[in-house]
Amino acid sequence: MKIGFIGLGNMGGPMARNLAAAGHEVEGFDTASVTVAGVSVRQSATDVATGADVVITMLPNGEILSRVAREVIPAMREGAVLLDCSTVDVETARAVAEDAAAAGLEALDAPVSGGIGGADKGTLTFMVGGQVTAFNTAKPLFDIMGQKAVHCGPAGNGQAAKICNNMILGATMIVTCEAFALADKLGLDRQAMFDVASTSSGQSWSLNTYCPAPGVGPQSPADNDYRPGFAAELMLKDLRLAEAAAEAADADTPLGTAARALYERFVEEEDGKGRDFSAMLPRFASRGRS
Ligand code: NAD
Repeated sequence: MKIGFIGLGNMGGPMARNLAAAGHEVEGFDTASVTVAGVSVRQSATDVATGADVVITMLPNGEILSRVAREVIPAMREGAVLLDCSTVDVETARAVAEDAAAAGLEALDAPVSGGIGGADKGTLTFMVGGQVTAFNTAKPLFDIMGQKAVHCGPAGNGQAAKICNNMILGATMIVTCEAFALADKLGLDRQAMFDVASTSSGQSWSLNTYCPAPGVGPQSPADNDYRPGFAAELMLKDLRLAEAAAEAADADTPLGTAARALYERFVEEEDGKGRDFSAMLPRFASRGRS
């Protein structure tokens, strides 16, 4: 396939590289000057969109995605697929899909889970909204960049799945960190706490796979002085998207709101910026109730 790839950052760079390594013809564009093995870097988004079978975007946010989509949609050939893998708000994803459909294109919102390591190794999970026909066209590409792709329904449902998942992740990470800090103060050894909770009803991905306590459980950013990993500011971005979606849908999400407020304080007023989202543990450990 001829693929245009826009946004060759921490995630997009390795994803584009894996597509090229699998034999696809990949042209890339990024506003920063970048080089990616096997990818011909061009001068504009329009350049890479012209004649492409699939245009993939991996951009920082919905505002930038809307701008790029307005530029590339008129340049794409009829029937081509616009595949956005960024994490953006549901409304933007649906608006981009509508604009694409009006221009005779197919569109998918396909945000990912698995982080930079997953992008590098080609083991991402894609959660996909949009037409089944477009999903089937993109499936061979998902199989190269990832280990799993789930079709979640019509346009926007991929983003809906992503922000609901990450709302669970943010809230479980916070409560896991709170519980470790409480255990410390109750005189309970962290290893004992892990051994019990990770095999009891307190288990979760945040505890079992990404344990926020250094030296306990599997290797995680906690063992690397809380260098990300998944940065606290990216978690904040996703929790804000979840809250905006909850407001728009009139959904009651009190723990999602509390998690958003806590990560906001951590990133904007405390020392959370640039640290992994599991660095909530030293934050709680150094505080009392007030
Ligand atoms: P990044 O900042 O490393 O990459 C974004 C790239 O887009 C940058 O290279 C930037 O120069 C480029 N860019 C910005 N504006 C552009 C434009 N108008 N035209 C072309 N290129 C432009 O970010 P990332 O970590 O690669 O994340 C990308 C997306 O993936 C985000 O939506 C993020 O939420 C999501 N995501 C990230 C992770 C992660 O662990 N990093 C995990 C899952 C999802």
